[in-house]
Amino acid sequence: MKFVDLGLEPKTLQGVMDAGYDEPTPIQAKAIPEALQGRDVLGIAQTGTGKTAAFTIPMIHRLSKGRAKARMPRSLVLAPTRELAMQVAESFEKYGKYHKLSMALLIGGVSFKDQEMKLTRGVDVLVATPGRLLDHHERGKLLLTGIEVMVVDEADRMLDMGFIPDLERIFNLLPFTRQTLFFSATMPDEITRITNQFLSAPTRVEV
Ligand code: AMP
Repeated sequence: MKFVDLGLEPKTLQGVMDAGYDEPTPIQAKAIPEALQGRDVLGIAQTGTGKTAAFTIPMIHRLSKGRAKARMPRSLVLAPTRELAMQVAESFEKYGKYHKLSMALLIGGVSFKDQEMKLTRGVDVLVATPGRLLDHHERGKLLLTGIEVMVVDEADRMLDMGFIPDLERIFNLLPFTRQTLFFSATMPDEITRITNQFLSAPTRVEV
């Protein structure tokens, strides 16, 4: 299979081509077509398999239509660490270079003011660590009721870092009708419980 066969919106495909990719990796070949159908995806994949592009590419495709409203981001990616959140943001910039998607990165160590200004203008993509996202929500500067797509990256690392209560709180702030793409390298019982509770008839893809 080639990227050109996936039915991607032309500017999204061009962004991927410019990255020099020809063929999707196995996790991408399995997850991208399902995500493009609007289905929930449970992806079991390690770092290095190309899992970041497996969710950023279908998100860019979907977000290429529509516009963000003030304080109501259209999509959310949660990552356990600042470093991972920054990598995800770079991935959006790389594959989304032909789109005018607005993005905010909500991570510790960056001033609240700058982040709030971006949120006020409206963002298509919010990339965040759980604690910082909840801090912004508690300050009343952020509504999660407009989220169309929610991604959890490296869920098992979130579990190791004690973020499961935060993750559950965040899921409970999202609209019921949304797409959820959920990635974890392993599936401990606690992660299975979360996916049973918050994903809707997901397609399980494993590499
Ligand atoms: P990840 O597992 O998301 O951290 O990605 C691992 C690395 O694989 C990154 O450096 C990507 O740029 C690269 N990569 C992702 N998808 C592809 C692809 N389809 N073809 C070649 N390289 C890729």
